[in-house]
Amino acid sequence: MQPSIFNVRVPIDDRDAVFLMNTFTDAQLIVSRDVSDLLDRIGREPVEPGPIQPSPIEPSEEEREALQTLVENGFLVENRETDRRNIEDFFTAFRSSSEQLRVTVLTTLQCNFACDYCLQGDHGDWNKTAAKMSMETAAKLADWIEARLDALGSKSFAMTFFGGEPLLNMPVVYYLSERLWDACQARGISMYSSIVTNGLLLTPDMVDRLTPYGLGGVKITLDGDRDTHNRMRPLRGGQGTFDKILQNIRLIAHKVKVSIGGNFDESSVDSYPALIQYLREQDFADKLQKVSFKPIIREQKPAQPKGFIALTPVAADGKPGKPLNGACMSSAGSGVTSSAGGCDTCGFLDDKTSFLREETTRAGFKTVDGVHMGPCEIHKSHAHTVGPDGSLYACPGFATELGQSVGHIDGRHDDLRTEAAKRFDKITGWHECKDCSFIPVCAGGCSAAAHVELGDMNKPNCHKPAFEAGLVALAHQAARALEPAMAG
Ligand code: SF4
Ligand code: SF4
Repeated sequence: MQPSIFNVRVPIDDRDAVFLMNTFTDAQLIVSRDVSDLLDRIGREPVEPGPIQPSPIEPSEEEREALQTLVENGFLVENRETDRRNIEDFFTAFRSSSEQLRVTVLTTLQCNFACDYCLQGDHGDWNKTAAKMSMETAAKLADWIEARLDALGSKSFAMTFFGGEPLLNMPVVYYLSERLWDACQARGISMYSSIVTNGLLLTPDMVDRLTPYGLGGVKITLDGDRDTHNRMRPLRGGQGTFDKILQNIRLIAHKVKVSIGGNFDESSVDSYPALIQYLREQDFADKLQKVSFKPIIREQKPAQPKGFIALTPVAADGKPGKPLNGACMSSAGSGVTSSAGGCDTCGFLDDKTSFLREETTRAGFKTVDGVHMGPCEIHKSHAHTVGPDGSLYACPGFATELGQSVGHIDGRHDDLRTEAAKRFDKITGWHECKDCSFIPVCAGGCSAAAHVELGDMNKPNCHKPAFEAGLVALAHQAARALEPAMAG
């Protein structure tokens, strides 16, 4: 037997203990140093496969019990080849699972905001030409989704409305919600829908109309405290939007689960503690389901395709734990810049992400833990993003770049889409990650960010320091949770 590739550990010095986690099995243990030393000894002197043998490490009776627990939780495996095989099998099963059909619908590429970090939005003549889904396309999309549900036999259906600003096309939102709710009811399938919105147009009436048809969550973006948000996310004329959005949240927070997301950069990050504090003081604070902030990806290459999506689109309903939750990790995915060699900007952002996570937790809000981040939906065959014209994409990070479309709801085939589908079918960025312990929760990082920043979606987009920082926080949280039990 050998220690698993996917073991990670954090010393808990004030307890003379060690937090052990296996990122593949998600097992988490707090053990004495003796047990982690035992793992190290086995790492140096592997025990032969099969039942735990007394030789060559000659464990005591107590150690034998510890070894058994380590085996049962995946910390000890037959050999490293077993781990490598297991992870490939896991990704294959993850890709082909038809348990849930997920569809992200871009109701429009128009937006009423003029954020300078987003290529979409109310800049220049963008809104005059930006596509908007017609009712005819929405009807065809509903037909296509019903056919997919029938073909796959899925047990659940998750639909996310995204854009542009999805609330600029409410007829499509209402139509798809109502029709697909009925379709799911008729088939005995559970349905959950969510909206990722800037929040400016959100009203209680919208929520009241949609909740009977499966609306379970709304994710609203705030980019810092009032002044910073108003600078980052203004209307075209420069008017601020913060107060109106907060007022809208106040009116709906008791009706539907609201999550707050935010996109920060070097110029805005310092305003986030003030935002967190401000949210804490609001009468709706206890109603917020999750508060999480991510770095903005600024494109590194001079000429990028117009329309690259720079907001966080998925997993408004993501829950930590297995099966892994598939959350986009930053404003265009997990992104930020290059890999472990990392530039200063990358280090800065990883660092600040951890800092903001701690601030958010300290204020009593639920947030992402920084470890259970993926694999994201690009690794799932039955997760689709649908553009306003009915084009299909592998994930929201590639949507609107027509050359990356992998199909169309009308079933048309052309060489470009066929080639793109083949490319996305074999995204395996983690193959270059050797035996990294974080592969099960990272899968090589955000392929959309790798595409933009590295020019190759199959390259790892590495933020290992962010995972390591998340792991330290998780370890200390686990140690704190144990305190009452130990005191008792
Ligand atoms: S590849 Fe990136 S943008 Fe696409 S779903 Fe994954 S994390 Fe999100
Ligand atoms: S991208 Fe980095 S953190 Fe992710 S699996 Fe690869 S080496 Fe590990």
